[in-house]
Amino acid sequence: MTVSPRDATDVLLIGGGVASVRCARALRKEGFDGRIVLVGEEPIPPYNRPPLSKELLREDLPDDLVLAEPERWYERRDVELRTGRRVVELDLDRRTAVLDDSTAIRFDRCLLATGAEPRKLSVPGGEHALLLRTLADARRLRVAATRAGAGARVVVVGGGFIGLEAASSLASLGLRPTVVELGERLWSSSLGSKLSEWAMGVLGDAGVTVRLGAAVTRVEPGAAWIGEERLAAAFVVAGIGVRPRDRLAADAGLDVSDGVLTDAAHRTSHPAVWAAGDVARRAGRRIEHWHAAREGGERAARSMLGLEPGADPSPWVFSEVAGHAIDVIGAVDSWTDERWLRDGVLAYADGERLIGLAILDGAMPVEMARAMVTVGNARDPALAAT
Ligand SMILES: Cc1cc2nc3c(=O)[nH]c(=O)nc-3n(C[C@H](O)[C@H](O)[C@H](O)COP(=O)(O)OP(=O)(O)OC[C@H]3O[C@@H](n4cnc5c(N)ncnc54)[C@H](O)[C@@H]3O)c2cc1C
Repeated sequence: MTVSPRDATDVLLIGGGVASVRCARALRKEGFDGRIVLVGEEPIPPYNRPPLSKELLREDLPDDLVLAEPERWYERRDVELRTGRRVVELDLDRRTAVLDDSTAIRFDRCLLATGAEPRKLSVPGGEHALLLRTLADARRLRVAATRAGAGARVVVVGGGFIGLEAASSLASLGLRPTVVELGERLWSSSLGSKLSEWAMGVLGDAGVTVRLGAAVTRVEPGAAWIGEERLAAAFVVAGIGVRPRDRLAADAGLDVSDGVLTDAAHRTSHPAVWAAGDVARRAGRRIEHWHAAREGGERAARSMLGLEPGADPSPWVFSEVAGHAIDVIGAVDSWTDERWLRDGVLAYADGERLIGLAILDGAMPVEMARAMVTVGNARDPALAAT
């Protein structure tokens, strides 16, 4: 395929999510004045997904409200947007990306930020379960909730972040959700028993029933089944995790293992390609959260320019359960002790090492918590005092 000079760019950003936008923003901020093209498969400019399971499910809000940047931002920063277009092939020898309209773009450097896709419910009838990843999914779910109406029973499969947020929003609309979670605790036990018990309490108060240690085995119109037990359900929504969209990278010959493998500076196994956001497994860890995607895109930009990638703060995920804000700081997967330090602040530690903090309703400033987790001293007197 021949590529005209019009279709040659200095930087190609593949994927229309926050990782790509933050990469573009950081490139311009660092003074990069080359050509930047961003290709995204969804029909609208990059947007923030967190509101999809929260405000956008609870209220009729316009699309503009979730855009990562207003449309004029792309003109002002001279970032060319190609929405509604998917990159279907990457030829790394020729540094060329082929789009689904058979056009091609040659690039000097490229960011892979193709994100993740929700796992489907693989039980009989599972195809009827609604999923929640895109703005279109959120609109579909809101229509289903409005049609079902207040008082309707619905089933939410999965007691993780997305499932609990969706159930909380549906309950606030007057529906009666039952969350079915395979594990013995919410968040697949990763956040321990104390936060799970707290969440069970506030969810119960909000009218959400939670079934732990249970699996939906079948879905049919009007019901979900747990073995022989039938749960009435106007609809079923599944929030059972995501898969990185790393097929494009794997087909191009990049090193991939449950995500595109990168070093700490977001460099992949090819010198012209970087990866960030949900699709990247950076220095052995894949994080599927909003702040990580934004910060990753920014670091990748600096790395592309040969600069120090910059600060690497502790991971931070924010969520909502039954109207309560939760911030979880740190890579909370290898702790041995969990303890409430005081109302609204839960610490995860491994002996003397502070691994993470969970903060309810803003009981501690997040930036302070991030700094404390970075230092990692579980006996920091400031922890109890703040
Ligand atoms: C409903 C919901 C609620 C969430 N709430 C929170 C929250 O409260 N807190 C939090 O920390 N995180 C939250 N997250 C997670 C957060 O939104 C993600 O971590 C973040 O969106 C990842 O950004 P990304 O840029 O890596 O990928 P994505 O946002 O997935 O964007 C990737 C984009 O690239 C497109 N794409 C994929 N392949 C191609 C291709 N070949 N060519 C062109 N385009 C392509 C995709 O269609 C998609 O539009 C939530 C996610 C969802 C779905």
